[in-house]
Amino acid sequence: MHEKSPDALGTRVSKEEKLEDFGPGAYRYWAKAGEKTPGGLHFNCPCGCRVVYGVNFERNKWNSNLERPTLVGTIACQLVKPGQSLGLDGWHWRGKLVQGTFIGTI
Ligand SMILES: [Zn+2]
Repeated sequence: MHEKSPDALGTRVSKEEKLEDFGPGAYRYWAKAGEKTPGGLHFNCPCGCRVVYGVNFERNKWNSNLERPTLVGTIACQLVKPGQSLGLDGWHWRGKLVQGTFIGTI
């Protein structure tokens, strides 16, 4: 039995705020030192496990929309905590970011 990963509506968090204060799917952009364009984003795992993961736009191409980001390709969250259920594919949340919403896939 392999259940679908949960969806999470993304909330954009500013640099001054803590991701930890927000719920599943909250995300914040990061940029390399000296660069203004985001190089990727950090996000609270959509499954609700409260682990923060990162995405690099060199791997998952970004549509340059700050408010409703869409990324090309799959985002996968690796098992990091004991007791988290592990899917057959080796990930505990797997899906896409489409127009600011994390959409879980099988
Ligand atoms: Zn998780």
